[in-house]
Amino acid sequence: MAASRGGAASVQAMKRIVLLGPPGSGKGTQAARLAADLGVPAISTGEMLRSAVAAGTPLGRTVAGIMNAGRLVDDATMADVVTARLAENDAQGGFLLDGYPRTLPQAETLGEILAEQGVELEGVVLIDVPPEVLVERALLRQRADDTAEVIRERLAVYARETAPLIGYYRDRGLLEEIDGHRTMDEVTAALLAVLRS
Ligand code: ADP
Repeated sequence: MAASRGGAASVQAMKRIVLLGPPGSGKGTQAARLAADLGVPAISTGEMLRSAVAAGTPLGRTVAGIMNAGRLVDDATMADVVTARLAENDAQGGFLLDGYPRTLPQAETLGEILAEQGVELEGVVLIDVPPEVLVERALLRQRADDTAEVIRERLAVYARETAPLIGYYRDRGLLEEIDGHRTMDEVTAALLAVLRS
């Protein structure tokens, strides 16, 4: 975490950010809201992949079955997707990543992509939500890939593959945690407070 950069009146904020949190933590909604406020694009790998599936691209055809089963797309494929996206113009001033990285190798890859660009991640914010709330929210959301079995699989994959990133980024002094079991507005306010501190 960078040191405080000017107190309450400061309009500076972190610009290269990863949002971390389990499926159903509200990352996607929050990323879209924060992006507008921070002036950086929200980059959701889940949304990028869903678009590819909908458009029937080669990538979409490769990942459709994996996504429907609640499993993770392989790290090499994701590295290609994210490398290309972060090379686009709108991401040069910063980004809010939602859904990437999701594994320790992906976290390493992200570090390498950014190092290549001569920049660094500025912050990682974990949106914390109790597991029982996640299942309830996921069932309410009812997206096509949200059957109870797939939800369980995605939560298990999160616990096994993604939760280790919490310690990884904490060890690097980048982790902030906020309580995600509140109204969306409260969560947005808490995120903005952290990103502007
Ligand atoms: P949620 O926010 O509900 O967890 P996402 O919309 O982020 O889900 O992602 C949907 C699906 O897309 C994931 O379950 C996974 O199959 C695939 N996916 C998205 N991002 C990644 C990633 N970084 N690595 C591997 N698979 C991914």
